[in-house]
Amino acid sequence: MNSKVRQTIRVALALVLFAETQADGAQPEKPLHWWKGNLHTHSLWSDGDEFPEIIAEWYKTNGYHFLALSDHNIMQKGSKWVAVTNAARRAVLEKYIARHGADWAKQRVTAKGVPQVRLKTLEEFRGLVEKEGEFLLIPSEEITDKFKQDDRRHEIHLNATNLRELIKPRGGTSVVDTMQRNIDAVLAQRERTGQSMFPHINHPNFQWALTAEDLMQVQGEQFFEVYNGHPSVRNAGDAHHAPLERVWDILLAFRLTELKRGPIYGLAVDDAHHYQRFTISNSNPGRGWVVARAPRLEAAAIVAAMEAGDFYASSGVRLKTMERSGRGLSIEIDAEPGVEYTTQFIGTLRGFDPSSRPAPQPTNSALPVTRIYSSEIGALLAETRGPQAEYKFHGDEIYVRAKVTSTKPKANPYAKGETEVAWVQPAVAPAFDVPPVARARRVPRERAVTPSRR
Ligand SMILES: [Zn+2]
Ligand SMILES: [Zn+2]
Repeated sequence: MNSKVRQTIRVALALVLFAETQADGAQPEKPLHWWKGNLHTHSLWSDGDEFPEIIAEWYKTNGYHFLALSDHNIMQKGSKWVAVTNAARRAVLEKYIARHGADWAKQRVTAKGVPQVRLKTLEEFRGLVEKEGEFLLIPSEEITDKFKQDDRRHEIHLNATNLRELIKPRGGTSVVDTMQRNIDAVLAQRERTGQSMFPHINHPNFQWALTAEDLMQVQGEQFFEVYNGHPSVRNAGDAHHAPLERVWDILLAFRLTELKRGPIYGLAVDDAHHYQRFTISNSNPGRGWVVARAPRLEAAAIVAAMEAGDFYASSGVRLKTMERSGRGLSIEIDAEPGVEYTTQFIGTLRGFDPSSRPAPQPTNSALPVTRIYSSEIGALLAETRGPQAEYKFHGDEIYVRAKVTSTKPKANPYAKGETEVAWVQPAVAPAFDVPPVARARRVPRERAVTPSRR
């Protein structure tokens, strides 16, 4: 038996074992609970306008169980002083002192006469808000990188959740290379420290930085933001640019078939910067979050649940139950009186048309645009009204995901007319899935399958 045949048999066996463990639905030792959290938040440690402990308290008192403070290229470690030189900052400091006392807020005046306040580190302030089984802070960073070529500038931002040590932006020779080097840095730290952590790709449509063709080439990456509450991130695309939900289906269709990279999961996040004034033009907390199902409120358990796709993303709609398997997808919505719910099951079937053509280039931007693909990718396979919705695989599905829309207007919306939504992670047919351990692994570049273009 040659090595290629042996390798094929090994892969086939692994897939069978994987399908069986999925089908068995092995009983967890501890009962599972739903935990609500936001993985993308800024504080005074970078360009947020509030102290981290005040932000954490906002989330804790607004029904969240976990929060990742993800400042730009910095973790809440070491010594950091911020200037208190304008009225707005002084008002924030006064509020902070009123809450935590003048002793807690350490102040000084620099030799040049600039008044400053020292920010507390995560280790210093987490004890104020954390409570076992109730509220958890997860260390994080928004690795804030860019790729520039001629007059083109791509903002490339990735969050690293449950990071242990700061990662400086890695740079790169192309958009994809820049993403990949930063992803690799997170995966390498995970490998070296043994601490569960994952990268996720932020707001691909922010300044139209990333196309579906860019995103489908990265490896070891399992998450991206399908909804970000910052008012300038363009989740819904525009006349020239694909909405992020469309990008999600394009990625799923190609990653699960010719690229064999496993599913990519969609996150909803706040990307909050503004905590003083709640308005549609500010990036406020409370717009998008994830709800993960885990036995305990611990960072490693949250990471594991999310890597298994055992979570949903939401801008308001709550679920009571959610079952995803290689056989289908079912949910029960935690329905509110007077609100109507519609669940769409969106998926791509075997033998879909993989061809694409270039999208027209917008006149005001030189950046590449996601290509136009067949409507067989991300097709509406079924639609159900009411609180219960179920989709059973017929056998020709590659994956199916669910989107629940409601008639309930979103409070302090990201965009005018927004109503509350939930996004359920895709259920993948066993033949197209990749064992979870293999998803976060990097394939040496020379062996990697690159997407074909037809
Ligand atoms: Zn960003
Ligand atoms: Zn951000």
